[in-house]
Amino acid sequence: MNGRVDTKSKAAFEQAKKILPGGVNSPVRAYKSVNLTPPYIERGSGSKIVDIDGNEYIDYIGSWGPLILGHAHPEVIQAIKETAEKGTSFGAPTELETRMAELVVERMPSVEVVRMVNSGTEATMSALRLARGYTKRNKIMKFEGSYHGHADSLLIKAGSGVATLGLPDSPGVTEATAANTLTVPYNDVESVKLAFEKYGEDIAAVIVEPIAGNMGVVPPLPGFLEGLRQITQQFGTVLIFDEVMTGFRVGLNSAQGLYGVTPDLTCMGKVIGGGLPVGAYGGKRELMEMVAPSGPIYQAGTLSGNPLAMAAGYTTLKLLGEPGAYEELERKSARLEQGFKANAEETGVPCTINRIGSMICPFFTDRQVINYETAKTSNLEHFSRYFARMLNQGVSLAPSQFEGMFMSLAHSDEDIDRTIAAHREALKSL
Ligand code: PMP
Repeated sequence: MNGRVDTKSKAAFEQAKKILPGGVNSPVRAYKSVNLTPPYIERGSGSKIVDIDGNEYIDYIGSWGPLILGHAHPEVIQAIKETAEKGTSFGAPTELETRMAELVVERMPSVEVVRMVNSGTEATMSALRLARGYTKRNKIMKFEGSYHGHADSLLIKAGSGVATLGLPDSPGVTEATAANTLTVPYNDVESVKLAFEKYGEDIAAVIVEPIAGNMGVVPPLPGFLEGLRQITQQFGTVLIFDEVMTGFRVGLNSAQGLYGVTPDLTCMGKVIGGGLPVGAYGGKRELMEMVAPSGPIYQAGTLSGNPLAMAAGYTTLKLLGEPGAYEELERKSARLEQGFKANAEETGVPCTINRIGSMICPFFTDRQVINYETAKTSNLEHFSRYFARMLNQGVSLAPSQFEGMFMSLAHSDEDIDRTIAAHREALKSL
């Protein structure tokens, strides 16, 4: 496809804007930062999505991460259908929940006990409550440019200077809440140490994306995660890995398996739901036994452990456990990375490509990208034009420089080569 028709999507968006805030149910879907009409999706299959105007795209959003097997994977759909025929929700225990939990415990190194929730936001919010309840401390630490969902205490931007208290990042978050969140630069153990020197005895938890995926893709520098583990252990602070994006994506044992650093609590989402609404948090038995009804820390959910979501998630994890799945994701992703790098060299457009497994992010900068500050050196003007040209050539990317691309097992070598060719044309036109 060259040149995208968007007559029907435009009309659908206008209609939606009358009754949904900004026309959408989640802000980034409005394509505001790239100033385009979002394609309204009619269907998806494998690596492709088709919009209501009939445009087909090779999709690298993958519902923002969950669809590691591609769209409408036949076995996942079959599992959902078979489960739905027996009823969609009971609000009562099912054996499916236990089977799912067993699989998570088997594969996520730090998790001995797990609680299912309905989104990544719920997972991080609940993990923080647990950490605060367990340590009887109030403050938490997060990293600049990280996203952990939209709970109040996580919608905080950095104050000025290191080791300062945070400021609300959204109206509606109170200053009192923000003051309990410390924000420091990613990959900067020295700043973490400074903040702990000042506030260490009050810090309940450090929450970190072990591979940052919300400032583009930014891997941890050697020693960063190990440093966090050492400092938190020293101060009796709970270390939380937010693996909502990386969990079961970067490897069978997730980022914690990849780097060999074991947190106290882990938050999950996306891939474990296989495209249905799921989140989870889990960790050491001693901590998790504090959660109601075994312990006093309250957390509940009408639809938590929902049978359809468990069926989709369980089937997805089971298929990812088949030999060679992650090796194949690595091979495909490396092919894309190499193609992008060759294009950058050929066209002379400054590009830094960060990749860990199937999380890939081309930045328009010649700086090494190790934190939010360096991610922001990317030329956003270039990104917008690149994005529009990729969309016009039938490649759907996240409409923001500060998001990665997600490879799925459904992407064929032909898809990847077409994507590389489109990237080359886009770079040439910048
Ligand atoms: N944590 C991370 C690392 C995420 O990437 C996201 C979502 N992009 C969340 C938490 C929040 O998850 P959800 O959108 O399911 O609430």
